[in-house]
Amino acid sequence: MAGKISIDTERCKGCGLCVMICPKKCILTAPDSNQNGYFPAQATNAGCTGCAQCAIVCPEGIIEVCWDDAERIRIVEIAGKPDAPRLIEEKA
Ligand code: SF4
Ligand code: SF4
Repeated sequence: MAGKISIDTERCKGCGLCVMICPKKCILTAPDSNQNGYFPAQATNAGCTGCAQCAIVCPEGIIEVCWDDAERIRIVEIAGKPDAPRLIEEKA
């Protein structure tokens, strides 16, 4: 199933984890820094399968994944438990 991601680039810390983990190599590092001085991840979405590995690995929880624009998931923090495992929240 084809996928698509969106990244909140202004909150990205440029750690590169999503770039490294993407099996389809469809996330790049942007050539320009964001307002905080980090070079953010940039989605190309070329070949994205919607596997969500990028969203799961992102320590900032700022990647959203869509499948065919019908279903969406996002990684959310457990309120008050920043060190707890993150959850995947399904949205309509
Ligand atoms: S959902 Fe999977 S294929 Fe798509 S950008 Fe993220 S890691 Fe890559
Ligand atoms: S894993 Fe998250 S914080 Fe790190 S580069 Fe990717 S989007 Fe930015």
